[in-house]
Amino acid sequence: MKESEIIRTLFGTTPPPEDDCYFLAPNRLVTTDSLSEGTHFLHDWSSPEILAKKLVEVNVSDIIASGGNPKECFLNLGLSPLSRKKEWIRAFSKELRKSLNQYGMKLAGGDTFSASKTQLTLTVVGTVEKPWLRSGGKPGDYLYITGSLGQSQLGYHCLRKKKREKKYKEAIERHLSPNSRFMVFPYLQNFRINACMDITDGLIQDAERLAHASHGKLKIQMESLPLDPLALAELGLDLCLGSGEELELLFLSPDILPTKLAGVPVTMVGRLEKGKPGIQFKKEGKTYLPKSKGFLHFSEEE
Ligand SMILES: [Mg+2]
Repeated sequence: MKESEIIRTLFGTTPPPEDDCYFLAPNRLVTTDSLSEGTHFLHDWSSPEILAKKLVEVNVSDIIASGGNPKECFLNLGLSPLSRKKEWIRAFSKELRKSLNQYGMKLAGGDTFSASKTQLTLTVVGTVEKPWLRSGGKPGDYLYITGSLGQSQLGYHCLRKKKREKKYKEAIERHLSPNSRFMVFPYLQNFRINACMDITDGLIQDAERLAHASHGKLKIQMESLPLDPLALAELGLDLCLGSGEELELLFLSPDILPTKLAGVPVTMVGRLEKGKPGIQFKKEGKTYLPKSKGFLHFSEEE
């Protein structure tokens, strides 16, 4: 089954939530994310420290994409013969505490169990004053992206192809250990953010979700996209557009934002218009159709 069908089946007749977080109350939000051995990581590529940090970052990214601040978290660990070893647990725990302290977060509970492969799940609860929903975009809003796109996909490509030259180091690090845009978050709060999400499945799929949630047509200018030059040269345009786990923020605002916030580029890449919900890429004035959509959770979708 496709991921969308699985989710529809689980929710039955209730429409599934569309935001990065669920709002428990007007000022409380929650999210959860997993890292599964073989699907999201390999022990050969990722140390326990890298995994602990990534688990925190992917969840924090969802919280800030909804306009919140992370507070408490719950950790569920499925431990394999490798990951239940003392050295692994100690290294994982040390980095986990460091990452949580950095955000002022508290480990409030969880569960551990034995598993054939390592399964890591973190659930984070946060506070929020002004929620950012995906559905809040209004016609005329400008579409912005923080940072750049493509490096995560390039890093993954290099790991698979065993390309370890120095020029790929940054991309490999970005893939294995992405950072949330937590530093940009307080600066963004000075502007009117009508809708926001983080990029985890690639710009094509994620922008499509934003457009549908906000009931508008997102016109994206290819020339404006902040694509990583090395990723673009090595992988081509379409793979950069589908690069997942970037943890960049994709948002809609009626305001003209500075081109950098907290040292991070903020690029205006398009606009939300009235019309059939969806995305339209424009390149040299013509519509551009990417050949692939990007990261899919289940291969049957391909
Ligand atoms: Mg997300």
